[in-house]
Amino acid sequence: MLVSPCIFCQIAAGDHLAVRILETDQVMAFLDIAPVHPGHALVIPKDHYENLLELPDELWGEMGQVCRQVAQALQKAFQAPGFNLGMNNFEAAGQAVFHAHIHVIPRFYGDGLQLFPQSGYQPGEMQEVGRRLRQALASEEEMGGKD
Ligand code: 5GP
Ligand code: ZN
Repeated sequence: MLVSPCIFCQIAAGDHLAVRILETDQVMAFLDIAPVHPGHALVIPKDHYENLLELPDELWGEMGQVCRQVAQALQKAFQAPGFNLGMNNFEAAGQAVFHAHIHVIPRFYGDGLQLFPQSGYQPGEMQEVGRRLRQALASEEEMGGKD
C-alpha cells in the first residue's frame, strides 16, 4: 500500500505536468526535469512498481521496447550518436523516486560523461566472485523450482 503520493503515478495519471514523448497501454515516456542532456527521458510503467525486482516480465519487456523507440527518436531528432540506458534500483544505488523507471540518455562524442569509474580485481578474486554469484543463482533456481 502506497502511503505518500508518488510523483510518477501522478504523471502517469495526468495529475502532474510532464512533457510526454510516447505512451503505450502500460508504459509512458516523458522528459526528465533535470536532464543530463536535453532529450534525457524516463520510461515508466503506468502502474506503481518500485523497482526492477517487482516488475512483471511482460511489463519489463514493454518498457524495453519503449526505451528502444525513444533511443531511435533521440538519434533522429538530435543526431545523438549514442545513448545510455540506466536504472537506479533501491536507495543505495541512488534511486530517488521509488517508482521504477529507466533513464534513456542521449550521448555525444566528447560530452565528458563517465558514468561509472572502474577498478580491478585482486588475483583470484574474480573467480571467487563468479563462484558466489553462480551459487546464488543456482539456489534461486532451486527455490523457484519448488513452486
Ligand atoms: P532516480 O535517481 O530515482 O533514478 O532519478 C529520478 C529522476 O526523476 C531524476 O533524474 C529527476 O530529475 C527526475 N524527476 C524527479 N521529479 C520529477 C518530476 O516531477 N518530473 C520529471 N519530469 N522528472 C522528475
Ligand atoms: Zn508510483
